[in-house]
Amino acid sequence: MSVRKDLVTAESAQMGIVEPQERLKQLASLSNSVEVDPNIPITRYYRSGLEMVRMANVYLQEGNIDAAYILYIRFITLFVEKVPIHPEYKTVAADVKMQNKKKLKEVFPLTEKLKLKLKAKYTKEYQQFLEAKRLEKELEEKQLREEKEQRAKAASITPPINLPQPSAPSLPPSMLVDPDMLDRVLYPNDFPTDPNRSSSGTGLLLPDTKPFPKPAFDRTLKPSPTSVQAGSLRSVVVPTNTMAKFLALASHNTLSNVETCGILAGRLAQNKLLITHVIVPKQRGTSDSCTTMNEEDIFNYQDQHNLITLGWIHTHPSQTAFLSSVDLHTHCSYQMMLEEAIAIVCSPKYQETGFFCLTPNYGLDYISQCRLTGFHPHPKDPPLFMEALHIALEDSAKIEVVDLR
Ligand SMILES: [Zn+2]
Ligand SMILES: [Zn+2]
Repeated sequence: MSVRKDLVTAESAQMGIVEPQERLKQLASLSNSVEVDPNIPITRYYRSGLEMVRMANVYLQEGNIDAAYILYIRFITLFVEKVPIHPEYKTVAADVKMQNKKKLKEVFPLTEKLKLKLKAKYTKEYQQFLEAKRLEKELEEKQLREEKEQRAKAASITPPINLPQPSAPSLPPSMLVDPDMLDRVLYPNDFPTDPNRSSSGTGLLLPDTKPFPKPAFDRTLKPSPTSVQAGSLRSVVVPTNTMAKFLALASHNTLSNVETCGILAGRLAQNKLLITHVIVPKQRGTSDSCTTMNEEDIFNYQDQHNLITLGWIHTHPSQTAFLSSVDLHTHCSYQMMLEEAIAIVCSPKYQETGFFCLTPNYGLDYISQCRLTGFHPHPKDPPLFMEALHIALEDSAKIEVVDLR
């Protein structure tokens, strides 16, 4: 479901020379690769769908039309093809379906328009690429021609010894030659069929060295990659005082050895995900678990404030900061919806804060396929979760804590 990974793939695909039509096709096929997991509640997909459109709108405003296009197409694929076959489809409320239909109607024409824009952009880039290639070839041919002419000239006025500086005949040949080259000096009899072989019988033949190195291809002239960073997750900006504010609000539970949890929400800007809100829903906690209730409240708040779900935060009142087996499953659905989603764990007792995510190459798949519930053991090696390396703490960023309890 992640855009970033697909854009990276799209970028590497365009490192080869791809015609505009083919590039569009590749982009569309990447966007179509959405799968719906029947174990994830269908309401999550509706929420995620709205967030997709929100992110796409931001990309569009910022001029990143490739990323916007991928998200719009993905939204269309998700709700036209995939969600209707989810086992809970019949249970979706009529007004939610209506709202979704309305969004689809907005997105269809927008996506068509973007497709034309992208086609024009790719065509232009492809033409620039072909032109650069043509110039490169021309230059190469010119150099070959000049080289040939120089050789012919040299052959007609100097003794037929193939030396780099024939204008200094007074020096013995060995002094004209790079000492390292002497090791590579060949004798005619070694290569009796070599066309460059000297016929004078002096026996000295230097390796053929071209006067100009072949110009390296200018990569900047290739079709430009999209502005989404390659090879890394978008960073998630966490206001530094998020944890302190959340802990203050949780302190009553903490004193009673009860966990507290909240949703991390925010927005996309300049390809960064900024956490701006902690939403604390109605919930039921124990010493080692926390269950959210009335998820609709969270959804409505986010919808009213245009907030994207970026992860979750919870306390461990009497344990260290780590992700328990139940936490891993909770986090899995966040990370399935958004590759960058993070889990913050606050341990006031041990004064620890953990910023975690499932290991993208292993933990995410493993947990999404684990069907066990409640606390249960998981193999520890390879690791299922890791410290989130894509977070950035920012002192100046503001956080709002919304208590819906
Ligand atoms: Zn936990
Ligand atoms: Zn499990």
